[in-house]
Amino acid sequence: MPKILVLSQHVANQIAAGEVVERPASVVKELVENSIDAGSTVISVEIEDGGMTSILVADNGSGIQRDDCIAAFLRHATSKISNAGDLYSIKTLGFRGEALASIASVAEVTLITKVVGEECGTKLSVNMGVLEPIEDTVCNIGTSLRVGNLFLNIPARLKFMKSPRTEAGYIGDYMSRVMMAHPEIEFRYISNGKTLYQTTGDGNLMSVVYSVYGSDIADNLLPIDFDNGYVKIGGYVGNAEISKSNRTYQSIFVNGRYIKSSAISFTLSRAYETKLTIGRFPFAILKITIACQEVDVNVHPAKIEVRFTDEARVNSCIYSACANALANLNTSVFISTPNTTNYQPTQVQEQVEISKSTFNGSHPVMRETVYSPVHSDGYYEVLDKVRQYAAPLSLLTEDSDIKVVGCIFSTYWLIEWKNSVYFVDQHAAHERALYEKIINKSMVFAAQNLLVPKTMTVIPSDYERLEASKEQLEALGFVWEELESNRIKIKSVPQLNGKIFDERYLLDCIEIIAEQKDNVPKELLNEKMIQCACKHAVKGGDVLTETEILALLKEYSANVIPLTCPHGRPIITKLDKTDIEKMFKRIQ
Ligand code: ADP
Ligand code: MG
Repeated sequence: MPKILVLSQHVANQIAAGEVVERPASVVKELVENSIDAGSTVISVEIEDGGMTSILVADNGSGIQRDDCIAAFLRHATSKISNAGDLYSIKTLGFRGEALASIASVAEVTLITKVVGEECGTKLSVNMGVLEPIEDTVCNIGTSLRVGNLFLNIPARLKFMKSPRTEAGYIGDYMSRVMMAHPEIEFRYISNGKTLYQTTGDGNLMSVVYSVYGSDIADNLLPIDFDNGYVKIGGYVGNAEISKSNRTYQSIFVNGRYIKSSAISFTLSRAYETKLTIGRFPFAILKITIACQEVDVNVHPAKIEVRFTDEARVNSCIYSACANALANLNTSVFISTPNTTNYQPTQVQEQVEISKSTFNGSHPVMRETVYSPVHSDGYYEVLDKVRQYAAPLSLLTEDSDIKVVGCIFSTYWLIEWKNSVYFVDQHAAHERALYEKIINKSMVFAAQNLLVPKTMTVIPSDYERLEASKEQLEALGFVWEELESNRIKIKSVPQLNGKIFDERYLLDCIEIIAEQKDNVPKELLNEKMIQCACKHAVKGGDVLTETEILALLKEYSANVIPLTCPHGRPIITKLDKTDIEKMFKRIQ
């Protein structure tokens, strides 16, 4: 074994940087948190190339006294706590005194600062851990820190950085959360010269929500208002319209700190009970305020997790807060269209009123489904209903064998053909028809130019996904351009069989892209997006005409097309004439 050495301050800082400064977004986080702790009311963040070339965070906070400037860059040097006891009542975002030392050991940092009462400002540079002499400078009260060439002295770390666009996405994501955590602060976020976010600092969370997510989200939120003396919870929960397939759109804040907590996310989902379908996650902004003695913030290197003294009690309060917020809502607004991947066929059997004994116990009738026996016993009920509702249309086609008897429940076509009666689920049939055309490549998406382009707000991580999959989305017909303030202008949308696909479809595509792993082949992604278009194409109000139904039936009878919709539900079932005759005991 070589001799044990105490490592130099510089090496120790670089080791700490490994934990504290994972990527440019962590630098932005640490600097912005320092600005908030300094009581700033205006904070501006400017980055170049995803923060890899330059990060500038400027504030109008307290500033740092000239005497303290060097100490600010020492490890475990902080003005926020002074003894171990303070660790249990932390009111600031920072407290470890590690960030500046760590950042300065892996980048070129310049600090410019001035406090009230000082005649001139102080400028101090620390390049990859090496301190330069302090200089006088002219500046306003407050602090600005410029961080350049991050990780230039650590090639191994540099290799792990993603593209500047992706890194910028992480920073934008952090900015959106910190803006929601502190609506009372005026934030400005500029990336490569473009202003992506600008908040007013008017203290109104909803106005921040508008600038981050746009009106599509903001208009679908319910306020949370809970206070039982132990914990106070504010913020918003979203309805099913804006539910997502992942938790990206959930923001949890504890005493102004953005945190992640699977326990709280779980509680949140529980509060929705049956209001969301499986696999969907609610949109939520939870702002939790609790006495600082009740929460331990010193449990994670990047302080992104916290531990509550009484986890169960906090979670139960969160449950009540969210459930109360959701309680008064008309539940029908909340029932989202079923997520097709989680589709559970309805067991019609449960509703059957006529018992089998009516038909002498045995399997007396029909039963032969053209496909899937799932709905078998439901025939009794269907027959029952047919007697009451079926409206004869007396439509005969050139194939005089086929007679469309009518459409029942605005859903099922009733068709008499040869010695059978067929029930066709028109939505499933329509969907399969579209899908068939797609997979046979006979269906082409056409781009439809919008006379009035639509603007849409996208969060930074989604924007990054859009750009990464631009080629495929353009092939579908989506063309957009980036505007300022995290908005895009959609100039063209896909069109299929006369149906125009709007930005909701684009949002779904983003979700699909987000769910795919990096190594998923483009073709699969394309297919998923097309399937999703298919889902969009078939809406409750859509109806097939009798001619379309007949055309489909003929195709089905030739057995070319699978007799299920793309998600496995049956399209068509039948009863034979003999089965009906048995029911009426005309034959045995
Ligand atoms: P911590 O935030 O944990 O105290 P940092 O390394 O981030 O540690 O900062 C060290 C110290 O530098 C802080 O305690 C604070 O006194 C001072 N400081 C850093 N940034 C600012 C700022 N923007 N405004 C005022 N003081 C600052
Ligand atoms: Mg700090």
